[in-house]
Amino acid sequence: MMHWARVAKCVCTATLLAAVLGGAARAGQSETQPARGANQPVDEAYTAKIKKYTTEPYFTSPLVDYLPASKNVPTPEVVLGDVSGAPGILPYAEDVYKYMRLLEKASPGRVKVFTIGHTEEGREMIAVAVSSESNLKNLESNRAELAKLADPRTIKLNDAEADKIVARATPIYYITGTIHSPETGAPTALMELAYRLAVDESPYVKEIRDGVVTLITPVVEVDGRDRMVDIYKWHLSHPNDFYPSLIYWGKYVAHDNNRDAMGVTLKLTENVLNTYATWKVQVLHDLHESVPYLYDNTVGDGPYNAWIDPILADEWQMIGARNVADMTKFGMPGVFTHGDFDTWSPGYLMFIAAMHNGISRLYETFGNGGADTKERTLDPEEYARTWYRQNPPLPKTLWSQRDNNNYEETGLLTSLHYFNENKRMFLKNFYIKSKRSIEKPSAEGPAAYVLPGDDPRSELQAELLQVMDKQKVEISRATSAFTVTFPPKKKEEDAKHTHGTAKAADKDKADKDKKDTEPTTREFPAGSYIIRMDQPYSRIADALLDHQYWSPDDPQKTPYDDTGWTFGELFGVQVVRVTDAKVLSAAMERVNAVKLPGGVKGDGTVFAINNNAQPTLATLRYKLKDATMDAAEEPFDTGGTKFNRGTILVKGVNRGDLDKAAGEAGVEVVALGSAPDVKTHPLRAARVAFVHTWLSTQTEGWWRLALDNIGVPYDYISTQAVGKIDDLRAKYDVILFPPVGFNAPASLIISGLPTTWGNPLPWKNTAETPNLVGKNDSTDDMRPGLGWEGLAKLQEFVAKGGVLLTATDTSNFAISSGFENGVTLNQAQKLNIVGSVLSARLVDGASPIAYGYSDKVSVYCDNGPIFSLTAIAGERRRRRLGSHSKERPTGRGTMDDPDFAVGRPATEVPEEKSTETWEIPEVTDEQKVNNPRVIPDAELPRVILRYADSKDLLVSGLLEGGDEIAQHPAVVDVPSGAGHVILFSINPVYRGETRGTYSFVLNTIMNWDSLNAGRKPAEK
Ligand SMILES: [Zn+2]
Repeated sequence: MMHWARVAKCVCTATLLAAVLGGAARAGQSETQPARGANQPVDEAYTAKIKKYTTEPYFTSPLVDYLPASKNVPTPEVVLGDVSGAPGILPYAEDVYKYMRLLEKASPGRVKVFTIGHTEEGREMIAVAVSSESNLKNLESNRAELAKLADPRTIKLNDAEADKIVARATPIYYITGTIHSPETGAPTALMELAYRLAVDESPYVKEIRDGVVTLITPVVEVDGRDRMVDIYKWHLSHPNDFYPSLIYWGKYVAHDNNRDAMGVTLKLTENVLNTYATWKVQVLHDLHESVPYLYDNTVGDGPYNAWIDPILADEWQMIGARNVADMTKFGMPGVFTHGDFDTWSPGYLMFIAAMHNGISRLYETFGNGGADTKERTLDPEEYARTWYRQNPPLPKTLWSQRDNNNYEETGLLTSLHYFNENKRMFLKNFYIKSKRSIEKPSAEGPAAYVLPGDDPRSELQAELLQVMDKQKVEISRATSAFTVTFPPKKKEEDAKHTHGTAKAADKDKADKDKKDTEPTTREFPAGSYIIRMDQPYSRIADALLDHQYWSPDDPQKTPYDDTGWTFGELFGVQVVRVTDAKVLSAAMERVNAVKLPGGVKGDGTVFAINNNAQPTLATLRYKLKDATMDAAEEPFDTGGTKFNRGTILVKGVNRGDLDKAAGEAGVEVVALGSAPDVKTHPLRAARVAFVHTWLSTQTEGWWRLALDNIGVPYDYISTQAVGKIDDLRAKYDVILFPPVGFNAPASLIISGLPTTWGNPLPWKNTAETPNLVGKNDSTDDMRPGLGWEGLAKLQEFVAKGGVLLTATDTSNFAISSGFENGVTLNQAQKLNIVGSVLSARLVDGASPIAYGYSDKVSVYCDNGPIFSLTAIAGERRRRRLGSHSKERPTGRGTMDDPDFAVGRPATEVPEEKSTETWEIPEVTDEQKVNNPRVIPDAELPRVILRYADSKDLLVSGLLEGGDEIAQHPAVVDVPSGAGHVILFSINPVYRGETRGTYSFVLNTIMNWDSLNAGRKPAEK
C-alpha cells in the first residue's frame, strides 16, 4: 500500500509539473495536432502494405498509417524489397546502412551519415543525422553553442549568456536501435522513421525536422545483428525445425552489452558514448523489445540512481507521462511508463545520458524475435489492468513486426514532437544540470576524489583512471604535496553517550570515541591524482567511485540489476572521498592520458618486479615467453626496498628487451645489484584451455574479454570438445571453466539439451549463415553437453596433474561431480545478495594464488555459493555445540557451576578444539576408527580467501541474511590426485569492473605447478 501511494503521488506531481513547465503559451489547441498534411502526397502502394501487415486497426496511429511520397527519395522498399516491418524480412546491418546512404544521397541536405567506429569483429557502426537543410548546414556552429551549455565553465556559469544560447540552439535527440540482437524490429522502424523525417511535409513532422536534429544509430550491436539475421534466414528455410538460439551476440557478451556503461569495455559502448559526448546530445533513447506493447520504462520504479540530478527525474516524468498520453489518445493499447524497472544501476547504455547531464530513455516494445507474424498469448501479469496501465495489452493477439514498427515509430514521433515543443526548457535544464555538476563541491559535495600517489597498486590505479578518461572525466595530478581535512567521524553528542558510562574497561573505546569526534587531516604526496568535482561530468565519477547502499527494507524487492559497484574497491585501489574544498586549490595539472607505468629502473643485473596483484604481470609473462621468471615465496628487503611475497625475478633477457616489453605491458621493473636470498619457484606461461558450454556464453564472455586484453592466450573449447580430446593433460596445464550463468545445475552442464527428439541445432558458418561463428566456436549440434565421457576426461586431467579452475555455478558443478572431497555446499535460506561488493579476508597469504594481495580484498558476489569444509569425504561439516547453543545443558547449578550426575563423581568433559567457519573441523578419535573416508592431510582443501565477518561484510549494495555466507570460504584450493581444483564462490572476472580480483585467476595460471608452495603441514 505504501509503495502504491508513494508512486501514485510521483506520477500526479509529474503530470502537474508537465502542465506547468510544458509552457502555458502552448496549452490547448495551439499545439500542432498529429496528423498527415492536407496536401501531403502519399505513396499509396506502400500505404496499402502497411495496412495489410498491421494486424489490428488499433495497432497503428495517424502518424504511421500512411507513407508520404517523394519524387526523388527512395523508400525502404528499394532495399528491403517490401515495406518496413513486412513479414519474413530482416535486413543485415549492411542493408540498413545501404538504405541510409541512399537516403543521404537522394535528399541532400536533410540526411547525413557518419561512421562512429567499429565493432570487435570489425563491422562499422553509424549515426544518421536527420534535420532541416539549414540545421545540417550549421551542425558545427550549433555544436559549438551546445558545447557551451554542456560545459558552462566556458561561459563562466553566466545564466544570461546561457539563456541566449538556449533561445537559439538546436537540440540533439539520439535514438539507438537493436543493442539486443533477438529484439529485431528497430532497424526497419528507424529506416522508415528517417525517411518520414526527411520527406514528410505535414506541419507535425516539419516542426520536428526544423526544430531538432534527430540522430539515429539503427544498429548498436552490429555483430549480433548479423548473426541474428543468419539464424532467422535459417529458420525461414527450415520452417518446421527448431532453430538455434542466439548463443553469441557480440564477440564477447550477449544481453550484458547493455550493462557496460560503467566499465566501458565494449566497442559499442565506447562508440555510443563518444557520439553522445561529441554531439553534445540532450536525449539518448534506446530501443528494446521485451514487454507488450510499449513500456516507456523511463519512469519505471524506484529506487532511482542516487547520483542523478532531481531535474532528470522530473524530465523522465514529463516526457514519459506525455508519451503515454499521446499514444493513449490514438487508442493504442498497452502503452505505459511506470513499471518494475528500477533506475539504480548506471550500467545501461541509455544511462550514459543520465550520468552526463542529458536525459536517458528506454522503450520496451513487443517483438517476436524475428519477422514472423505470430499469435501471442501473454501472461496474466502482462495483460492485467493496473493503475498505471489503464488500457492494458490484450491477452491474446496476432502480432507482426509491422505492429512493432508502428509502435516504435509512433512513440518516437510523439516524443520528438513533444521534445521540440519544449526544447527551450530541456536545453535550459541541460545547462542547469551541467552547471550543478560543476557546483557539486560547494553544494552536496564531495569536492574531489583523490587517488594517492603512493598507492602501491599504481598499475590498477592507472587502469581505473583510464575508465574515468573513457567516461570523459577530467583527471588532474598534484604537482606538490597537499593536505586535506576530514570531518569528525562522529558527532560530539553521540560520543558523549558512551563517555558518561565509561568504565575503566571502556577506556580504550572512550579514547577512540573522543578521537572520532575530532577532525583529522591527511597529507597526499605529489603525483597523487585528483578527480575534481567542479567539472561538467563529475556525476559519473561520483556514481562510480562512491559507495552504494540498498536497504533490505526497500519496497523494491527485485532489483533489476547489480546493487553495488564501487570501482575503487573492485579495482583494489585507494580512492579517497574528500569533502574539504581546499583540495581544489592544491597545485595540480590536467592529465590528458593516463599511461600505465612501466620499464626498468635502477642499476644492476637482477631484475625484480614487485607483486601487487597487477594483471599486467601475466601480460609480461606471456610476452616474454622464453625468459625465465621465478616467484619469491617470501617477502624480502633489499637496498631499503621492500618486496612482497610473489615478487618476480626475471632472467634470460637483456635489459633493453625487458625495458621495452615492460614498458608496453605496463610493468615496473627494478634492477638489483644482486639476487635476493629467498626461496623461489618457476613462474610459467601455462598452456590454457578455456571451456564454454552451448547453454550460455555471456558470463564467460567477460573472462575472454579480460584474458584477451591482458594477453593470456588460450584454446577456446566447448564442453562437447572436452570428451573428444585424447589426453587433455598432454595439451594443457590449466583448464578454466568460468561461470555458465543463470545458476546452471551440474546435470544440465553434463547432459545439455535433450537429443532424443527434435532436430540438431547447428552453430556453424554455411552459405546460408555466413556470420554465425565469427571468431568464436562452432558445432554441428548445440544440444549435447559435457557428457560422462567429458566429465571423466576432466577428472583424468586433474588426476594427472592439471589445474581446473571453476567459479560460482561451475564450482557447484565441480563439487557435485566428485572432483574433490573436502568441500560441501550449504543451501541458503535467507541470503539475498544481488550483485554486491563484499569484503573478504586473506586466509593463506603464502599460497601463490594470493600473491600480491593484502589482508582485505573487496570482491563481487551474487548470492554465493556457500562453501563449507570437511575432513571426511562425503560428510557435511559436523554440527557442534557452538555459538548457537548455550554453554551448558539443563541441570543443576548456575551457568558457571557444572552439573553432576547423582551417585557418581563429576567427570571432565573432553575439550573439543574450536574451529572457525572457514576452517576444517578436526576429525575426532571416534571418527577416525576404521574410516576410509578420512581425507589425508595432503589432500585437504586449502582456503585462500574467506568472506569477512558478518558486521564487516557489506561494502556496497544489498546484503540480507549475510550471516549465512559470512566467514565462509570464498576461494579454495583443493589438491586432487596430482593436480588441483580451484573453487571460487565469488565471480572474480566480471563486466570489466572487478580488476582487483583478476589476479586470483592469473596467479593460479602462472603458478599452476607450484600451488603447494607455502602450504603448512597439518598440525598434529
Ligand atoms: Zn533488450
